[in-house]
Amino acid sequence: LNAATRFSAILEGRRSISAYPEHKVRRVAQITTEVTGAIERIDAVKTGFAMADFGAWGPVIEREEERSELKYPLSYAQKGEVGAIFSPIRDGDVYPELAPIPDDPRILSNHIKSLGYFLKADAVGICELPQWAVYARDVERDPIVCDHKYAIVIISQWGYETTKASTGDDWISDSESWLSYNESAHIACTMASYIRRLGYPARGHLQTGNEHVPGYDVILTPLLVLAGLGELSRPGWALHPYLGGRFKASVVTTDLPLLPDKPIDFGLQAFCRTCKRCARHCPSRSISDADHKIDDYGYGGYRSYEFDWERCTKYRLMNQNGAYCGVCVKVCPWNKPKAWWHDIVRRSVRSAPRLDPLWVKLDEWLGYGKAHPELKWWFDLEEVDGHMRIPPRSPDNAFWQTEGTPTDEWKKLRADTTTEPRMRS
Ligand code: SF4
Ligand code: SF4
Repeated sequence: LNAATRFSAILEGRRSISAYPEHKVRRVAQITTEVTGAIERIDAVKTGFAMADFGAWGPVIEREEERSELKYPLSYAQKGEVGAIFSPIRDGDVYPELAPIPDDPRILSNHIKSLGYFLKADAVGICELPQWAVYARDVERDPIVCDHKYAIVIISQWGYETTKASTGDDWISDSESWLSYNESAHIACTMASYIRRLGYPARGHLQTGNEHVPGYDVILTPLLVLAGLGELSRPGWALHPYLGGRFKASVVTTDLPLLPDKPIDFGLQAFCRTCKRCARHCPSRSISDADHKIDDYGYGGYRSYEFDWERCTKYRLMNQNGAYCGVCVKVCPWNKPKAWWHDIVRRSVRSAPRLDPLWVKLDEWLGYGKAHPELKWWFDLEEVDGHMRIPPRSPDNAFWQTEGTPTDEWKKLRADTTTEPRMRS
């Protein structure tokens, strides 16, 4: 393969097998988040769930953090059983020689992104890996070393129909996240193994559901922004222009020669300033509704809206209405499925921000962001002391356990019936 070799339109980058029209999103030279100072490397123990696990907020929160794995049976199946498979296979031996493939970073990037889409990723982006986006130490206080040059960021979405049905903090909430964690973890581990087989080092970074089982060595949000997959939102998550926050992500870090994507600007900064819907609906009041950002978001260096991640973490762990919480994702106007009429609004947000208040009002008026119990397909269940029960506050109590008084019509019919009713065999 030499410079004169002809490649397909996909490998050349003139076509993509992505499900979303990524080429339509405006690319910019700089991320839309202002960075005002040096960004510190932080320890993995400084994340909310690790702090809860170590008892930083007392024994009740620590107990609920431990119980969270068992609390809902579907979450347990996803994180306790399936999720645990991925950690041991996220890294491995590198094949001793390079495979005979092109070394052009542009061709290799299009190949790797197409591989992501082949493996059913919803979006894939590439950036250089800054060392400040690598945790300094793991929860056991051992230094984390990850000096690969590039990060490949892989997004898997939550299903829109289930998000639409859910309140955002009911019993399916955690499972929606875990669906995406496991799908993106599978893609990351497969991709990392493939790259190692080509002769380049590569490591998958993924959610294991247990702070003591190695998963992420890198911090996701800045990598999503740097890789052109999102902008930083009011609650501090990265929002994708076609999925909102309705996704989870895994990462592959590698030395395979790649061409980084440029960051994106789809108008989110002006839109978040106007919208504030997540702040109004957050059950723990963790999201600021201020008009102005502050300088220190918690890692130092980012300019962003204030966010109380301690309150958020505590609510997610102590939630009595379900498992964890994603209300801010559920109510966000950006989480819509693909449709041409949503694309018109997306285009307007980008080109005419003065219309943002109109779109926010229209979205609310049309009822987006509300729960749709008529679409509910899961059972609310909670494990308590080794037994499954219908949680006390679940609407399933009313649905399954209502015993009404027989109607007069039934009593008359019953009196006329000489035989006992029988189940159909
Ligand atoms: S996850 Fe729930 S508690 Fe946390 S910020 Fe979002 S809405 Fe608020
Ligand atoms: S709900 Fe509104 S303010 Fe919150 S992240 Fe989404 S667009 Fe931004």
